[in-house]
Amino acid sequence: MKRWNGWGEESISMPLPSRAKALLRETIGPGRKQSSCDIQSVAARVPQTGLPASAPADTDPTVRVLHARGQSTPDWIALRSGNISTFPDGVAFPENSRDLQRLLDFANDSGAVLIPYGGGTSVLGHINPLALDRPIITVSLSRMNALLHVDETSRLATFQAGILGPDLEAGLKSKGLTLGHFPQSFQYSTLGGWVATRSSGQQSLGYGRIDDLFQGGLLHTPRGRLHLPAHPASAAGPAIQDMVLGSEGRMGILSEVTVQVRPLPEMERFHGLVLPNWETAVSAVRGLVQEEIPLSMLRLSNAEETQSQLALSGQDRMSDYLFKYMRLRGIDPRAACMLLVGFTGTASRVRHGKRQAISLLKNRHGALHLHRFPGNSWARNRFRAPYLRNTLWEEGYAVDTLETAVTWDIVTQTMRGMEQALRRGLEEEEEGVHAFSHLSHFYPTGASIYTTYIFRVASSPEETHRRWRKLKHAASRVIVENQGTISHHHGVGTDHRDYLRAEKGELGVSAIKALCEHFDPRGIMNPGKLV
Ligand SMILES: Cc1cc2nc3c(=O)[nH]c(=O)nc-3n(C[C@H](O)[C@H](O)[C@H](O)COP(=O)(O)OP(=O)(O)OC[C@H]3O[C@@H](n4cnc5c(N)ncnc54)[C@H](O)[C@@H]3O)c2cc1C
Repeated sequence: MKRWNGWGEESISMPLPSRAKALLRETIGPGRKQSSCDIQSVAARVPQTGLPASAPADTDPTVRVLHARGQSTPDWIALRSGNISTFPDGVAFPENSRDLQRLLDFANDSGAVLIPYGGGTSVLGHINPLALDRPIITVSLSRMNALLHVDETSRLATFQAGILGPDLEAGLKSKGLTLGHFPQSFQYSTLGGWVATRSSGQQSLGYGRIDDLFQGGLLHTPRGRLHLPAHPASAAGPAIQDMVLGSEGRMGILSEVTVQVRPLPEMERFHGLVLPNWETAVSAVRGLVQEEIPLSMLRLSNAEETQSQLALSGQDRMSDYLFKYMRLRGIDPRAACMLLVGFTGTASRVRHGKRQAISLLKNRHGALHLHRFPGNSWARNRFRAPYLRNTLWEEGYAVDTLETAVTWDIVTQTMRGMEQALRRGLEEEEEGVHAFSHLSHFYPTGASIYTTYIFRVASSPEETHRRWRKLKHAASRVIVENQGTISHHHGVGTDHRDYLRAEKGELGVSAIKALCEHFDPRGIMNPGKLV
């Protein structure tokens, strides 16, 4: 069974290795063990629904609790403490376009609000009901999860938007195809959610972002249906597809999505290397990307993340051996940066890419090649890492992440600025913050920075929330000051909304607002999110 107030299946738990515990105790102090409330006690406090009995929605309190929050840190604080201030008044489970139309008609007539809900893995408050004086229906797309059509000639596949990652890939695999979109939330997020948040998968370097894969579909707006045909390219004015990407449920509900697919790769390899220091490592990955070496994945951890990941891996003997090996080869383990490189495609493409990349990294940048062991370990655990968040919370530590994308010239200053702001963020409270980063999505002009920070859960949910807000604001300010984007792939939701103006300008924000209002003149679609 899926956890109602944490990540993933209840049957899976990942213990916190003793070295990781020691590292956290040393950097930020011992955590205070946390217990959490049960769903029955929260369901018992859910207020009366504001919907009439005729509304096309399930008003059962437990169902309403299960759709009340996503996966952001404020969501976790609310879910773990049971202090949930708002719930949807009901949850609808449409099965087809007719059901969607009925919901839109109901909302148009009654003034009720609709929140499209894919997998609920948002980390920015996208699917949270806000305090409104109108009833709120969360629209779960979970029953709209079929593979509708595959055009093998054009390599296009059309799905209902509520399909989850594993089901989507299973449907394509039977035809020898793949989408290749693997966000870390792959197991619990949906195709519609990926499009609506402009998601990016772990192998975006090879397969592209969802922006590149999304070709068309069907959007049910309060003003009617919008068909988005899958043209290979078009010069017929601005692309409506681009307006739907990142629309966060504000323009309507995607019922169908057409994506570009590819043949399943003949071969896939993930290799690990160690670079002697950050400056060399950044220059090396920039070289790989700008020289267009065929890669499907790069992930460059800074020294702090390399140390933290090795501690979190629990493989102490292997880590000790690795440190010894580095020293032997003249690399200081405290400065070393772990790089994972993925090669995907035909056997000859993989062999060619590998030869070029490894030789450039070793000969030009002094990298130590660790071969496939670290890469295989990453691939095996690529969707398991978020389970540590459950364990860390229980041990009294909150974990959150921040991400941006900036041009190559300011990658290092932005990353250091974000980490610095986080580490100093709770000085007034005399609390430490553990922060580390990696680069994980790459472009010829720059890269995305992904920073993880860990701080201690406070004695009250209100205080933990206050600390989180302070940290989030401090690091987001650094992003804005460096003219980075407030999000490379998580989106905007409520938590990034106030930073959007700095990036898009007054005119840009009002254009987005006008677009949402055009499709949704009565403001029934997910109000308060994005803009
Ligand atoms: C542990 C973890 C790891 C993550 N890793 C990644 C990652 O690697 N890459 C990445 O990009 N993101 C990642 N995320 C963030 C999140 O998974 C993505 O934003 C994802 O795209 C959300 O999909 P979802 O189906 O869960 O959407 P939801 O969270 O349900 O909804 C997100 C937004 O999309 C809208 N929406 C959903 N479905 C539809 C629809 N059919 N029509 C219209 N609007 C819709 C909602 O209204 C909401 O505004 C991660 C999150 C977690 C918790």
